[in-house]
Amino acid sequence: MARRIHAPGYFFVDPLARIEKLGPLMSEPRFLTASQCKDIAGRFGTPVYVYDEAGLKRSARKVLDFPRPFGFTGRYAMKACSNAAILQVFHQMGLEMDASSGFEARRAMRAGIPAQHISLSAQEFPNDFVDLLRAGISINACSLKQLRALGEALPGNRVGLRINPGLGSGSSHKTNVGGPSSSFGIWHERLPEAKEIIGRFDLEVFRIHTHIGSGSDPAVWQKSALLTLGQVEGFPAATHLNLGGGFKVGRMREEVGTDLSEVGVPIKAALEDFARLTGRKLHLEIEPGTFLVANAGCLLASVEDKTTTGDEGHVFLKLDAGMSDILRPTLYAAQQPMTVVPLAKKSGQEMESVIVVGHCCESGDLLTPDPSDPVRLKERSLVRAEIGDLMVIDGAGAYCAAMQAKNYNSFPEAPEALLRESGEITLIRKRQTLDQIVQNEVPL
Ligand SMILES: *Cc1c(COP(=O)(O)O)cnc(C)c1O
Repeated sequence: MARRIHAPGYFFVDPLARIEKLGPLMSEPRFLTASQCKDIAGRFGTPVYVYDEAGLKRSARKVLDFPRPFGFTGRYAMKACSNAAILQVFHQMGLEMDASSGFEARRAMRAGIPAQHISLSAQEFPNDFVDLLRAGISINACSLKQLRALGEALPGNRVGLRINPGLGSGSSHKTNVGGPSSSFGIWHERLPEAKEIIGRFDLEVFRIHTHIGSGSDPAVWQKSALLTLGQVEGFPAATHLNLGGGFKVGRMREEVGTDLSEVGVPIKAALEDFARLTGRKLHLEIEPGTFLVANAGCLLASVEDKTTTGDEGHVFLKLDAGMSDILRPTLYAAQQPMTVVPLAKKSGQEMESVIVVGHCCESGDLLTPDPSDPVRLKERSLVRAEIGDLMVIDGAGAYCAAMQAKNYNSFPEAPEALLRESGEITLIRKRQTLDQIVQNEVPL
């Protein structure tokens, strides 16, 4: 039985209590070594998110090298992982920010990001948008209502326009951010109404923005760029073209990721053609989230329990993490790579087919869903794990720490750590305490 150590308001397994000797791992986590896992779990407890500074910088360099014929701005869609330290790493690399709410824009400013480096594309238009604009943030109007509000408050102002050009390529309506089933942006057939508002308030549309989640196929990106350029023609004052994010990343070995240098080639050509035809040399922007962080982050958890439902059933590994830390499997049937880091191993290196579940009292808290259906179980073949072993869930840099079923079952928000390029491991967010979970409640 693992020793339990007491942290204010929270118990967690102290894996050091179980460590005898670490044998060679049969499969490796993406960026952590077994001994780093052991060290991190010992220092911060589990579950804990860990980010890889070298990996963050590698992906940032790829974004900054995106093919472009004229000017270029690479932005980080900060909703993917919003910790100030991550924003600072990207800011120092030369990336600017894409914020998806007024709160996010202010969070970026608190992290030291200059307002001039923040562009806001929001589903819910912030009430304080005038203050944000005055501070220096640029705003893409994402609906006719937003455009009208901007015009009424600040006639004559510069504004970006997010358009839904009628194309989408997500795998389901949950990931589709363009096309008729997506509510994001101004539907292309309603642009005459947008132009009426722009004329009425004398707005200057300086940027045309689309974010349709085009995946990894250069042909789809070309189509999306051409469609968007078609829209730019109708806005003669526009100097900037923002193609959004949605560059697919391969988390699992068999998944295809995006080669930005390849995807950018037809986009660059399209911008050159556009300049030849119209004399307009557009400044290109892209704003990936997933691409920048997905594979540069993992969730380090412990195997908290192990159970079986017999010959007709399954072997279940229960982690001390789950939908309260990583929601993508439940929400999208997303597949995440998992590596067992055996701590106290008597057994050899044999494999076992298991179902991995989270710690919430909720049958949807499933970490190995069938890829075609989040409610169906799919066994995963992993190195045989015992209670107290560590589990690395890779590909957890994007939309995990930033998008969980926070505090469900009153589990505290897990800490975040950064593996520096120097090899040093720094805590960049502490574990939440029970006091913090209930601090805003008003007891009777
Ligand atoms: C979410 C979002 C992105 C980033 O999407 P990824 O799929 O993570 O690359 C970029 N732009 C906008 C407007 C977004 O809402």
